[in-house]
Amino acid sequence: MKKIYVSKLEELLGTQKVLSSECELLCYSYDSTPLISSQPDVIVRAHNEDDIQKTLELASNEDVPVTTRGSGTGLSGGSVPVKGGIVLVTTAMNRIIDIDAEDLSATVEPGVITSHLHSAVEELDLFYPPDPGSMKISTIGGNVAENSGGLRGLKYGITGDYVMSLETFFIDGSKVRYGTKCVKDVAGYNMTKFLVGTEGTIGVFSKIVLKLVPKPKTKKTFLALYDDILDAARTVSTIISRKVIPSTLELMDQTTINCVEDYSQIGLPRDVAALLLIETDGHPAVVEEEGSVIKTACNANNVRTLNIAGSSQESDELFTARRMALSALARSKPTTILEDITVPRPAIPEMMASIKEVAKRFNITIGTFGHAGDGNLHPTCLTDERDVDEIRRVHEAYEIIFEKAINLGGTISGEHGTGIAKSKYLPAMVGPKAIELMRKIKTCFDPKGRLNPGKIFPV
Ligand SMILES: Cc1cc2nc3c(=O)[nH]c(=O)nc-3n(C[C@H](O)[C@H](O)[C@H](O)COP(=O)(O)OP(=O)(O)OC[C@H]3O[C@@H](n4cnc5c(N)ncnc54)[C@H](O)[C@@H]3O)c2cc1C
Repeated sequence: MKKIYVSKLEELLGTQKVLSSECELLCYSYDSTPLISSQPDVIVRAHNEDDIQKTLELASNEDVPVTTRGSGTGLSGGSVPVKGGIVLVTTAMNRIIDIDAEDLSATVEPGVITSHLHSAVEELDLFYPPDPGSMKISTIGGNVAENSGGLRGLKYGITGDYVMSLETFFIDGSKVRYGTKCVKDVAGYNMTKFLVGTEGTIGVFSKIVLKLVPKPKTKKTFLALYDDILDAARTVSTIISRKVIPSTLELMDQTTINCVEDYSQIGLPRDVAALLLIETDGHPAVVEEEGSVIKTACNANNVRTLNIAGSSQESDELFTARRMALSALARSKPTTILEDITVPRPAIPEMMASIKEVAKRFNITIGTFGHAGDGNLHPTCLTDERDVDEIRRVHEAYEIIFEKAINLGGTISGEHGTGIAKSKYLPAMVGPKAIELMRKIKTCFDPKGRLNPGKIFPV
């Protein structure tokens, strides 16, 4: 039955922006995280700041939880309304408000699709580097809330490195702008940096200013094929230790390569144990010099074949293939559970060996790919949630993988956030005092815990 506050929302915002049919509630009870779902009471599609403000004020008065949502591509359950209430969707706030080509910044609404911003700035010979694998669907608001990384993170950094200013609504409907378009700004606490990565638990971003950089003049893409995945892993640390920071340094293991090839049929060899997708960009002379270091590093680690993309079309195809890794893996079994560990780069070979060993020990299939240049690996288990015994083994295996990552000086999440999927592992990662302080910060902004409840903190 429709709750009374839902009728009040309809009166406030109009029925067009307030959705509550059974089918709509079902659609918004998931994001891209497997095994997690929960229905909201209602969905609000905000078209402007006024809609956000009215929704939050009503939620405060009626004591209702609010979960903000972009495109729902999150992989830690961040936009799943685990306590019901309102899902506040920002995808209709999708205007690129301004691209300042003189002072290198872009001002956008939160619902702008990441790749739309890429295209718009590249037309002006500018560059917005953060490029999560989901960039054709994900929103800038979601990217900021998760501090998302991407294939170019190694050289250019991640979303948070480009956020200059955030206009944010808090749960009582008040709005604050933190940060400016200035290159330097140290007035007060750096609240802009703090808000990045808060996973919708502190405020709702309504306007975002992002730094832009000049578009690189040229680039060269390499595809390195290996008979032993540990040689691929060792190549990553060799390249870094030789003081070259490629713009992209991605790894795919054999399971992933085969799933991608089944899906895309671009001619990836199925019999190799692993591949590295490497790209260097910038001034032609630098690209040439870095390319020669990359070749030497690959050869020093027993590369079977090293190909250079002959055209930008070929390079784009390789990048598209890498970006479809998760979707390709997801086709092969009913349930795909993807994880997101990061370790210091010299520890990648040990981490890879451990993932292999754990998969064998628990008799499960794990395909691993990831932003290896960042030490960020996505061991992805191909399973079936109806097989209760296998799911139990999968969870046990992941606990060992997380423990190994932490012991190697790594982290349980490099880019997908804590959400609900990782909350139980957070204490092992940061310790009880850190959790207590984080809870206090959350309470300052949201004393009744209404904004995205059930996330980040262990129950
Ligand atoms: C195929 C695939 C590939 C992916 N590749 C990558 C990758 O390479 N790197 C990476 O980092 N992630 C990746 N992801 C994860 C995901 O795409 C990112 O986390 C992305 O930033 C989520 O954006 P979204 O718009 O879908 O946000 P949602 O999933 O809708 O929301 C994510 C979180 O952001 C909060 N949020 C959304 N909008 C706002 C707002 N306006 N204000 C405040 N909080 C808000 C939500 O409450 C939620 O907690 C991938 C996911 C998929 C499915």
